[in-house]
Amino acid sequence: MAQAPRRTVGIVTGAASGIGLAVATRLARDGLAIALFDRDGDAADQRAGELRDAGLQAMAVPVDVSDRAQVEAGVAEVRRALGPVSVLVNNAGKEGFRRFLDISPESWDELLAVNLTGVFHCCQVVVPDMVEAGWGRIVNISSSSTHGGQPFMAHYVASKSGVNGLTKSLALEFGPLGITVNAIPPGFIDTPMSRRNAEKGRLGPGGMEAAVERTTVRRAGRPEDIAAMCSFLVSEEAGYVTGQLLGVNGGRNTG
Ligand code: NAP
Repeated sequence: MAQAPRRTVGIVTGAASGIGLAVATRLARDGLAIALFDRDGDAADQRAGELRDAGLQAMAVPVDVSDRAQVEAGVAEVRRALGPVSVLVNNAGKEGFRRFLDISPESWDELLAVNLTGVFHCCQVVVPDMVEAGWGRIVNISSSSTHGGQPFMAHYVASKSGVNGLTKSLALEFGPLGITVNAIPPGFIDTPMSRRNAEKGRLGPGGMEAAVERTTVRRAGRPEDIAAMCSFLVSEEAGYVTGQLLGVNGGRNTG
């Protein structure tokens, strides 16, 4: 007898903007029921409504990923509305630009709480569903800055390097249980976050244009470039890919 197709429920964090929105849209188009987690609940609500208007299955949940109680309540809401979660894309992130000697212990903690501990919270709360199902897919959005470091971004790069390490360790622990865990370290992607950084002169002299000139394929990345890789990594056919950092960066040397 043919097996009933798996009804896949996914959570994308930081899904109201930029890369997260593109990932949520792509996975919903792929047929997943998607929960858009974002600390900006109104924006997430609006985006989820637009996806539903396009005939896709989506719900919004206001969640700050750095707050364990909010993550637990948000995941419980998704389970009630859509069922157990088998796909998790940890994308929510906070940028940080400051000279190392000016990074206060408080701003260090604040940034790590979102970029690294937020990933820990979401994975720990969601993984039991995947273990129960014997199948799961986790994709963590880190950063290509982890390949070589980045001046004035020590806390950001440290947090994202932690995400890469967490990815590899979880892949080893949960691979035998049917769960894959990979990271995508994006290069320069044109999103509200990178436009804010360009406006503040954080991309260096020449702004976005110069950043494009430094990129091997001579264009900025699009959120959809990351979404396409996510779509593959959460698919059935990506079951032999785990513990990997899959650079989507227009040719940045990752060696
Ligand atoms: P974005 O346009 O600023 O979108 C990020 C979304 O995450 C926003 O809606 C943001 O809400 C939300 N968010 C922030 N903190 C959150 C929290 N604690 N809990 C829940 N949601 C939260 O940024 P993006 O450029 O798409 O970046 C997405 C991810 O890619 C980030 O992890 C970033 O570090 C990573 N990345 C981006 C680039 C790039 O070139 N764009 C390169 C490498 C890595 P608010 O607007 O309210 O903050």
